[in-house]
Amino acid sequence: TRPRVVVIGGGFGGVSCARTLHALDGKLDVTLVEPNRTFTACPMSNEVIAGDRAIEAQQFGYDKVVAGGVKMATKAATKIDAAARSVGLADGTTLAYDRLVLSPGIDLRFDALQGYDEAAAARMPHAWKAGEQTLLLRRQLEAMDDGGLVVISVPANPYRCPPGPYERASLIGHYLKTKKPRSKLIILDSKDAFSKQRLFLQAWQELYPGLVEWVGLSHGGKVTSVDAATNTLVTEFDKHKAAVANVLPPQRAGQIAAIAGVTDRSGWCPIDPVTFESKQVPNIHVIGDACIAGGMPKSAFSANAQAKACASAVVSLLAGAAPAAPKLINTCYSLVAPDYGISIAGVYQPKNGLLTDVEGAGGTSPLEATLTFRNQEAVYARSWFDTITGEVFG
Ligand code: FAD
Repeated sequence: TRPRVVVIGGGFGGVSCARTLHALDGKLDVTLVEPNRTFTACPMSNEVIAGDRAIEAQQFGYDKVVAGGVKMATKAATKIDAAARSVGLADGTTLAYDRLVLSPGIDLRFDALQGYDEAAAARMPHAWKAGEQTLLLRRQLEAMDDGGLVVISVPANPYRCPPGPYERASLIGHYLKTKKPRSKLIILDSKDAFSKQRLFLQAWQELYPGLVEWVGLSHGGKVTSVDAATNTLVTEFDKHKAAVANVLPPQRAGQIAAIAGVTDRSGWCPIDPVTFESKQVPNIHVIGDACIAGGMPKSAFSANAQAKACASAVVSLLAGAAPAAPKLINTCYSLVAPDYGISIAGVYQPKNGLLTDVEGAGGTSPLEATLTFRNQEAVYARSWFDTITGEVFG
C-alpha cells in the first residue's frame, strides 16, 4: 500500500508541505486537511488596514493544489490518536496516517491578558488572523475622527511575525498623516527590543515625528489589562483611552497541536531541527508558527522553508533513509510607508538540537540608505508576496 501522509492546515506551511511531498514522491498518498475554502493571508494585510489594498488581494483558493494531485478534506481536524495513527475530522470521519504534519498556525490566548477575551476582540480587534478582524480594524480607523488616539498593544516574545506590529504602526501612521493629521498613535510594548528596531525608530523620526510614539517595557509599555466597554488599556503606570485599540494578545500553537499532545508548557511545539518531528510524539511533525524553531522567526517565509525541509525528511524516513540536515533561510520585509521598505534576513541550521543562526549570514537593510534604495525594498516586499503566494497556491 502507498504510504499515507496527512497534513493539517492549509496555510503557508501546510500547503507548501503537502505539495512538496507530492512533488518529491508521486506514490505517496497525501491529504491536506483545512476547513476553509478560501485562505486569507496575513502578509500585506497591514496594507488593507491602512486602506491601500483590497482584502481580495489577500485571498487564495485550493483549486490548483487539488488539481496538482493533493487530496483535500475540507473539514477541521478535531482529534488525533497518536497510538492508532489516525486523525478525526469534524464530520466524524477519520484519516489514517503513517506520518502526520501539523501546520495549524496560532491561536490567540484569550486567557492571558485580563479583560481580553473573544467578546473584547469584537470591540478591540487583534487582526492577527487575517479576514473579518482585518476589516473591522480598517472600518474603525475609517470611522475615527481626526485627532483620535490609536493604541497598538504588543506582546512579549514569541509571537507570529516579530516585525508585524511595527509595520502596522507605520502604515497606520501613514494613513493618519495623510488623512487625519491631528491624530496620534501609541505602541505599548511588553518588551524593550524588537525586530529592525533602529530602522523603524529612524523611519518614524523621519516620516511620522510626533505622530507615532513607541513605549517600551521599561518605560511602562506593558499592558496589564484592558476594558473593552470603554476602549481603555491599562499599564503599570497609566491608562490610555483609545479611539481605536488594536490589541495583540499572547499566542500559542493552534489548538489541534495541544490535542495531539505535541505542545509543551509554553504552548508551542518542541521539534527535532532536522526532521521537524515532535520531541514528544513520534510520527507527528510540526512546522510553521506552531513549532519552536530556535532562532527562526514565526513568518510565512519560515513556514514555507520549513515545509520543504520537513517534506524532504518525511520522504526519507518513509523510505528508511537518513534525512539530510537542512539549511533554511528567512527574509522578512516591512513597509514603513507605501514606498519605503526595510528587511531582515537570516540563515539557520540544526545545532545542539535547535535551529541556530549561521553566524555572519543575513542581516538587515543598512541604516544609511537613499530613498531610491528604500523604494526598491518596497518593490521587493510586494514581489516577494506575489512569488510566495504564487508558489503556494498558484
Ligand atoms: P497559517 O498560514 O496561519 O495556516 C494555518 C492554517 O491551519 C489555517 O488555514 C487554519 O485554518 C488551519 N487550521 C488550524 N487548525 C486547524 C484544524 N484543527 N484542522 C484543519 N485546519 C486547521 N510572514 C512573512 O513571512 N512575511 C510578512 O511580511 C508577514 N507579514 C505579516 C503581517 C501580519 C499582520 C501578520 C499577522 C503576520 C504576518 N506574517 C508574515 C506571518 C505569517 O502570516 C505566518 O507566519 C504564517 O501564516 C504561518 O504559516 P502557518 O502555516 O504556520 O500558519
